[in-house]
Amino acid sequence: MIDLYRVLPEEMDDLVVKLGHPRYRSGQLLRALYHESPRKMSDLHQIPASLRDALVTAGYTIGSEDEVHRVVSKDGHTTKLLLKFYDKTLIETVLMQYSKSQDRGHPRSTVCVSTQVGCPMGCVFCATGQMGFEKNLQAEKIVSQVLHFARILHQRGEHVTNLVFMGMGEPLANYDEMIRAVRLLTHPRAFGLGQRSITISTVGIIPGIDRLANEDLQVKLAISLHAPNDELRKKLVPTAGPHSVGDLIMAAKRYFKKTGRRVTFEYALIDDINDSTKVASELARVLKGNGAHVNLIPMNPTAGGFQRPARKKVLAFQQILRNGDVNCTVRVEKGVEISAACGQLRTDMIEKIN
Ligand code: SF4
Repeated sequence: MIDLYRVLPEEMDDLVVKLGHPRYRSGQLLRALYHESPRKMSDLHQIPASLRDALVTAGYTIGSEDEVHRVVSKDGHTTKLLLKFYDKTLIETVLMQYSKSQDRGHPRSTVCVSTQVGCPMGCVFCATGQMGFEKNLQAEKIVSQVLHFARILHQRGEHVTNLVFMGMGEPLANYDEMIRAVRLLTHPRAFGLGQRSITISTVGIIPGIDRLANEDLQVKLAISLHAPNDELRKKLVPTAGPHSVGDLIMAAKRYFKKTGRRVTFEYALIDDINDSTKVASELARVLKGNGAHVNLIPMNPTAGGFQRPARKKVLAFQQILRNGDVNCTVRVEKGVEISAACGQLRTDMIEKIN
């Protein structure tokens, strides 16, 4: 069976014509899929029954997801969901809302999507990395995470404003399905989110970064650096393998040159591991002069025994970078108490519901 939520608008046009129906039916079908929340084929009242039947006969379906668990932070700004798909795939996805930054009267509502079940990159401080890798998610399962939150927000008169590929998995290790999902989510005839509202975060798959630079997409790129030198980086990201810190910085420069969009370097600050003033000075030296932006992420508590640095250490680290002419911010933490923040996504609910 082929899920209609993986079919691009141009493919939908061809499909509808191939099934003997006029091309404009494709527009009706897409509008129904992305604006009416059908859960099954028979919900598609906007198209004739003959087209619905032809789609089913040709092997198409709507593989809707079920919400099996929901946790909301005390302030109500962060929601973590466990979604279950028809093939029993279980994934977590998170909504973060920022009430202070308004988007035409709406809160900024950012969905953090997963692209894989587990992750092959094995970052030692990350709960998902410690799960190991199970499988890639198909584009439709990435799209479904956003549509699910869009439906929840719609009931409150709100909408999804931003999207970050920072959930479970390494997006560039599932490149083709990730890009298909981005195209579906940004296509004006599908979900229609602005390309510049999307950030793709990678731990540093250089061929993927170069490939992304050559897509006709306006998405933002974030590279998780976590260390200014290879020795320290390999301890934190064991799969960093052949890609050195220098290689990553060069890839970021190529991305900027090709797209005109600056790359953000994400840096998880871990107490007594990569947060010393010496390391900060080295990072400032390495990044100086390339217009980089560094986003410091004080470590979230996970099972790996790593600790978050004290606030004054975080601020001292930031100051050293700023003194070195490196633009640097500290990420606003969301959802720590519900294990929804970066590096905490894991399917520990699986045991409870099975
Ligand atoms: S931090 Fe990201 S890339 Fe690293 S193991 Fe976790 S999910 Fe994978």
